[in-house]
Amino acid sequence: KITSGSAWQRIQQQGFDILQRGLDRHVRLAVTGLSRSGKTAFITSLVNQLLEGCDNQHLPFFDVVRQDRFLGCRRISQPHPHIPSFRYDQALQALSSQPAQWPEPTRGLSELRLAIRFRPEKGVTSWLTDTATLFLDIVDYPGEWLLDLPMLNQQYLVWSREQLQLLQSEPRASKAASWLQKAQQIKPDDPVNEDLLRDLAEEYTELLHYFRETLGLHLLQPGRFLLPGEMSGAPLLHFFPLPAATQLEDSISPVPGTQLEQLVKRFDAYRDHVVKGFYKEHFAQFDRQIVLADCLQPLNAGPASFRDLKRAIELILESFNYGRSSLLNRLFAPKIDRLLFAATKADHITPEQHSHLVALLGQLVHGAKQHVRFDGIPCDTMALASIRATTAGYCQHQGESIPAIQGNKADTGEAITLFPGEVPNVLPNDEYWQDNHFEFVSFAPQAKQPDQPLAHIRLDQALAFLLGDKLQ
Ligand code: GDP
Repeated sequence: KITSGSAWQRIQQQGFDILQRGLDRHVRLAVTGLSRSGKTAFITSLVNQLLEGCDNQHLPFFDVVRQDRFLGCRRISQPHPHIPSFRYDQALQALSSQPAQWPEPTRGLSELRLAIRFRPEKGVTSWLTDTATLFLDIVDYPGEWLLDLPMLNQQYLVWSREQLQLLQSEPRASKAASWLQKAQQIKPDDPVNEDLLRDLAEEYTELLHYFRETLGLHLLQPGRFLLPGEMSGAPLLHFFPLPAATQLEDSISPVPGTQLEQLVKRFDAYRDHVVKGFYKEHFAQFDRQIVLADCLQPLNAGPASFRDLKRAIELILESFNYGRSSLLNRLFAPKIDRLLFAATKADHITPEQHSHLVALLGQLVHGAKQHVRFDGIPCDTMALASIRATTAGYCQHQGESIPAIQGNKADTGEAITLFPGEVPNVLPNDEYWQDNHFEFVSFAPQAKQPDQPLAHIRLDQALAFLLGDKLQ
């Protein structure tokens, strides 16, 4: 049978579509980091560079751009309508206002999808087609959620004892003392008193907020207490570490209807639905991951905050422990195949300190790597500024030329020039803390010009590492 012209064309078109679908690529890139590590700024800038800045001048290290193979990028509908959208337009609006503002950070999970059109470089793909599309999903989630990982393996009483130990040591102890005293009134065998449990859970949440916001600490569990998202106020979050746990055997079975039984039930529900749910529904679907860390603020805040950041990074890295027998692998078979650690806000330091910042991050990550097997996943570290708010140069001080940065202070808008201090290239010891003073100043962003993409430092190198192989 002879196929008519138009039918033949249709078949050809179908064949082409199928081929195209086979050639199209898809990457789910997850962006995480503790609160204020710079996730919102990073995603805003990444999207902005791809939408507006794809030329050699702005992204010189991004091969697809340098080789003139980048054809364009568009935002398209996100794949999961039930996940909040990353608010790119609002972020850009804040950065374009006069005076420019930093975007509002997201507080939970959000996503956004881009379609990137490009000309394949070589190999079968370039022979079969002129253009290809990379669908890029960017998913933003709080690093605090990864700190809950150890709970997957824990029983309530064990968890309680671990948290009590933290609460009873400085810098937490002085602030936690009065809460601990109140919580000691809870007798495990008393009948359930919902009001008391709720009040204590709310006060415990306030404590966690104080540890984070005033003491600059990061090691805070359960993570959803700080960033509850749609779970805010839900009874699922009305539990806390029980001081009486120190006198109870792990094997005890709680009597039904008692305070202890209610606390155990809530903890189990949190672990099984909230923590497991996140790993199963989201984490296991990520292909690539960037972990952002602000190492500069803890350097400013002092040794307790820095030690805490180190421990928090170690815990975060546990989620990427891909040893075959790891808990995560057994439960969810995650598939992340590329991992980047980035020290953010590098525009807060003078350029000759950037290598120190990378070395410091390398050490923070390295300590953890001893416990973690990345199982052949390409893994890199770098220092970047998603949205550069300062300019670097030199200034004269007592007849000497010294490196300096210049920007506008975030609170007053006043223009300042300063040398913020030396970043240690190893984990700081007591001597460093005695002799050095690192001055971290929050800078206001520079107003975005309509025809210019956001200024950055090394965002192109981050893009090259995270996406380069998918754009060949
Ligand atoms: P998130 O909580 O992880 O989403 O953090 P954000 O992206 O909201 O960043 C927190 C704050 O850090 C911002 O409001 C800025 O003050 C600052 N920040 C983030 N990225 C940069 C950067 O590249 N340069 C500078 N100078 N400040 C930054």
